[in-house]
Amino acid sequence: MSYLDLDELSEEDELLKSEVHRFVEEVVRPASVKLDKMAPEERVKPSSPYFKVLKEMKKLGYHKLHISPNLGGPSLTHLQRYIIMEELGWGSLGLATAIGVDSIPFSSAALIGSEKLMELVSAWMNDTECNFHGCWGVTEPEHGSDYLMIIRDEDYLKFGKGNVKAKKEGGEWVISGQKSAWVSAAPVATHCGLHVQLEEGKSLAEGLFCIVPLDAEGVSRGKPVDMLGMRDCPQGELFFNDVRIPEDYAAVPPGAFYGIFADQLLCLTSCAMGAFSVGLARAAFEEALRYARQRVQGGAPLVKHKNIKLSLYRMFEKVESARYYVRKAMEYTHRKIFEKGTFDASPRHARMAQVYAKRIAYEVADEALQVFGAYGLSKEMIIEKLFRDARALQIEDGTIEVLSLEAADDVIESYEKKYYDADLIARRYPEA
Ligand SMILES: Cc1cc2nc3c(=O)[nH]c(=O)nc-3n(C[C@H](O)[C@H](O)[C@H](O)COP(=O)(O)OP(=O)(O)OC[C@H]3O[C@@H](n4cnc5c(N)ncnc54)[C@H](O)[C@@H]3O)c2cc1C
Repeated sequence: MSYLDLDELSEEDELLKSEVHRFVEEVVRPASVKLDKMAPEERVKPSSPYFKVLKEMKKLGYHKLHISPNLGGPSLTHLQRYIIMEELGWGSLGLATAIGVDSIPFSSAALIGSEKLMELVSAWMNDTECNFHGCWGVTEPEHGSDYLMIIRDEDYLKFGKGNVKAKKEGGEWVISGQKSAWVSAAPVATHCGLHVQLEEGKSLAEGLFCIVPLDAEGVSRGKPVDMLGMRDCPQGELFFNDVRIPEDYAAVPPGAFYGIFADQLLCLTSCAMGAFSVGLARAAFEEALRYARQRVQGGAPLVKHKNIKLSLYRMFEKVESARYYVRKAMEYTHRKIFEKGTFDASPRHARMAQVYAKRIAYEVADEALQVFGAYGLSKEMIIEKLFRDARALQIEDGTIEVLSLEAADDVIESYEKKYYDADLIARRYPEA
């Protein structure tokens, strides 16, 4: 199904939309259904459909959606980047997340990293064989939501210390500790964009963001975990035992910039998660619409019954309103970060894009499943998978409650200000 676009798309945009849709329908969706049914250890083998899709995505340049054209990224408008991301979410939340986290270490390094890191970035950009695959190591066994709440909380010492710590020895950082089992793509990644606390630091805020090659001595991985949803993206723990990386692999060295960096990076990931969520919601709505047109009960197709009509309308309303809000928030965020380089995207608006779209994705998947009756609970129907994925979405990349709380603090502090208050963040981290 091809949706009617309220933005008057150019011919080029329309073409892109239909080409990406064809790709996700023919390649991404079938692989994601297969992966969902496979055992965790099978999903990470070199023969897994996971790698086949990742390679295809890299050939199409989808790993570079967070690289601006002047740094070697694709010549796409902000709107075109959104269109691709919504389609990826339509095809598979897990594989969309996989290509999203793939980019985190490298696109962050492209924005703010050293010359040395730019060599790595350029190898990753040109890779179409998945020889380079990134992941994003934030969550730790003792710190999940804390990593989000620390950004704006005055009382930042209350969050305690991190599990993964780094100390400087000569020209190297030495890293030890553990990231939690929920790190997406960790079992298959070659590089991690890692949030680390300073050994001598007093809080999570006193840290750095570095790129760790996962074949470095001292790195080990846990078994891929078995989850309810988003099973098409493998997840697992990362362990660091005196892992040494060159000094200039710290893309964001210790300093006040850490607060701004974490906040702005979250603006980007929030908008991407928002677009993936709209895609997932649209997929669920379209499944329900198709099914309701065919299934006959009470002597008529389901679409003739008033409750089903209203249900379909409610789903449509949610998908459409989420799309245009997330699009706007993404366009604004990308302009601020990639085009102007001012790093003053609005956290409250970006978080809202993520929270609102995640919430409606779950509501729509739930309502769509109800339209299917018992068939909706069957593993034969994709709506069952979409529902599980939508459930995982409420936790992935920050729970919707904690993202809302964090956005609320930004609303309270900065509502009247046109732009993001970087000074305020810097003041929060006097010791960082
Ligand atoms: C599918 C999936 C993919 C993921 N991918 C990655 C990844 O690639 N990299 C990575 O680092 N992490 C990843 N995560 C981890 C994810 O970011 C965390 O699960 C999330 O931030 C929540 O942390 P937690 O699970 O430890 O829950 P907790 O922080 O323990 O929260 C438990 C509950 O308490 C609530 N809560 C917690 N703190 C507060 C507070 N201060 N105030 C009020 N309520 C609070 C939460 O809303 C939640 O309901 C992924 C998770 C999932 C499910």
